[in-house]
Amino acid sequence: MGMSQSSFLSPENLPAQGVETGRRVQVLVPGPLGRAYDYVLPEGMDAAAGDYVSVPFGKRDTAAVVWAAHGGDDSIDPAKLKAVRDVYSACPPMPQVHRQFIERVARYTMNDMGSVLKMSLSAPDALTPPKAAPALTLGDISDTKTRKHSAHRQKIIEFLSDGVPRRASEIAAAAGCTPAVVRAMVATGILKPASIAAPVPCRMVDLTASALAFTDAQSAAAEALQNIVAAQKFSTVLLDGVTGSGKTEVYFEAVASALAQGKQALILLPEISLSAQFMERFTRRFGVAPAIWHSEVPAAQRRLVWQGAADGRTRVVIGARSALFLPFADLGVIVVDEEHDASYKQEEGVMYHARDMAVLRARMGDIACVLVSATPSLETMTNVQAGKYAYLHLPSRFGGATLPAMQVVDLRRDAPPRQKFISPPLVDALRTTLAAGEQSLLFLNRRGYAPLTLCRTCGHRFQCPSCTAWLVEHRRHGRLQCHHCGFSQKMPNICPSCNDEGSFAACGPGVERIQEEVQELLPEARTLVLASDITGSANMIRSAVTQIEKGEVDIIIGTQIVAKGHHFPELTLVGVVDADLGLSGGDLRAGERTFQLLQQVSGRAGRGDKPGRVFLQTYMPEQNVIRALAAGDRDAFLAAEGRERERAGMPPYGKLAALILQSTDEMKLDQFCRTLAQRAPRYDDIRVLGPAPAPMAFLRGKHRRRFLIRSGRDISMQNYLSEWLSGIKTGSNIQLKIDIDPQSFF
Ligand code: ADP
Ligand code: ZN
Repeated sequence: MGMSQSSFLSPENLPAQGVETGRRVQVLVPGPLGRAYDYVLPEGMDAAAGDYVSVPFGKRDTAAVVWAAHGGDDSIDPAKLKAVRDVYSACPPMPQVHRQFIERVARYTMNDMGSVLKMSLSAPDALTPPKAAPALTLGDISDTKTRKHSAHRQKIIEFLSDGVPRRASEIAAAAGCTPAVVRAMVATGILKPASIAAPVPCRMVDLTASALAFTDAQSAAAEALQNIVAAQKFSTVLLDGVTGSGKTEVYFEAVASALAQGKQALILLPEISLSAQFMERFTRRFGVAPAIWHSEVPAAQRRLVWQGAADGRTRVVIGARSALFLPFADLGVIVVDEEHDASYKQEEGVMYHARDMAVLRARMGDIACVLVSATPSLETMTNVQAGKYAYLHLPSRFGGATLPAMQVVDLRRDAPPRQKFISPPLVDALRTTLAAGEQSLLFLNRRGYAPLTLCRTCGHRFQCPSCTAWLVEHRRHGRLQCHHCGFSQKMPNICPSCNDEGSFAACGPGVERIQEEVQELLPEARTLVLASDITGSANMIRSAVTQIEKGEVDIIIGTQIVAKGHHFPELTLVGVVDADLGLSGGDLRAGERTFQLLQQVSGRAGRGDKPGRVFLQTYMPEQNVIRALAAGDRDAFLAAEGRERERAGMPPYGKLAALILQSTDEMKLDQFCRTLAQRAPRYDDIRVLGPAPAPMAFLRGKHRRRFLIRSGRDISMQNYLSEWLSGIKTGSNIQLKIDIDPQSFF
């Protein structure tokens, strides 16, 4: 292979010495590989299915998993096989149920098994035992009594007198001295090296820590969940209840029930980083902080969580969708909070829906899966109605808080002034809320200052060089940005097309522009913009949330990151600046998504003792979604939406898959798409639509085409696609991606 070609006698090319007699195993290597490959165990080495091993692959050694404890292809000359280098004996093997899960996810999503495995081997250094961190403890202090120490030294000796080793930096901080003082004490032997083992996250759960007295409805739901989990059988249950009805506290009891059986629990949350409040509540209930898993968790912590999940000592993991791929030693329940949330769909790499895969994982492990939502997806509701999922309902808000009053503002009648976006009735409401010392939220799901900038003189529009998209002005940073690829440029002073100066006009609002408008209207109000680009990291979001909780903000202007999970008791007014925003475009779920999002945003109002109000600004007051929101009639909305989908044969009444083709070479791409279309097998119950340019026909420098495949519910979409695509070679420079159950259609 590769590098070894230069020398015939390099170790890799030698017939594996002393290896021929060894047993064969099949090893699955993470990466784009559709199956496991045979390796041979050197004499004296043993490995069973599930063991983590190190094997040579390509030019490097890589961590992999023994997929079967026997060879797969006896026709291969053993001398050609490579040897397993090492077995990671400190790490418990990947459980069989998890290996099967990987296979099933691969088959369902039509990805390589190795690519799915890669998502499970997501903390590369977790396979080796945790390194104990270097620390210091008291050494020889025999002469401390006779000698007089400096105040710093005295402080340090006192600090360490409990015998617990601590890091040098921590010691210096506690004594308020420089690291040099600590080093000097090591040199004289007063302090000596020790080590501290890294703590296992969420290990010591306390099931009696809760002090909440449940309402009758909560008790009934909690008891039902406890029974379902205690049955140790596969089942899926929907916990349905308006925001603030106490669902979280209730599903904590499902978690407690799994823990009481000695099993682990997984809680999936969208946008995990936003939920500092959630962590506090968990800690209150279980007497220990949860183990957290999402992309922003630092490597050292990821490693600990992975290890704790794998060896079973970490009892509860709260994570984003990828936490589903942690190789739990003994999982007892999965909770999917906000089950309807679109961010559960991974749109890159292996395209999977974490909610659906959570149900699959529960079925394979014969455990319960609890789906939780105030606005359940049509898919889930249909499964409830078909009797596939059990149903639990919390009908009212906890503590008698009422749902907010909804008011539709018809912008055709109550128009805002020119170049402004807040209508007179909403301005009044903001004013009275401010006067009452309460908080308001203006919701607009658009980052930046304006979504489109054009030159008034020549009509030039700023467009992204690599995408079918306008550049969005971010005035705060003086830049124009593409929200699809991250391209950004400085906002110029003169028009690049006609050289006119100061001729730019901002078209439409983003959150920054709404903030400007609020500041002009109500200069005395303290405003805060909460959007992912401005607020940035999880820490900054956390501190913004704290500011709001402390009442240091009067009016919040936010994108969808404020919609979820937060509980602000002083927030009594929500103004939806553009309720029509999500409704345009051909997305199958546009109506459902908009309903869910606006319902969730509305749920931020009046969560305390004070009643809340919601203003929906719209040009289409008679639209279904707006009417359903105003009437608070979710079920009627879902029923109507369901009837429409049924008529169109769309999910959940039919199946969908998408093929996405991309290339930098547009001609080659179109040619390939034509060939592909010609070769599509024809069946009665399957329709192939396309190829069509994707709505984002040009993205990150690549041209994009889509096929949409629709079938009846009893058809195996996977079989159909395999038949179609077998023998088709994309050739270089064309990428083909399969999206089973597509959620987005960009
Ligand atoms: P949901 O998850 O349905 O939005 P939460 O579980 O967040 O509702 O509950 C809303 C608020 O009410 C939270 O602050 C929660 O701590 C509180 N709460 C819920 N149930 C109780 C209870 N039985 N006793 C006291 N506080 C409760
Ligand atoms: Zn772009």
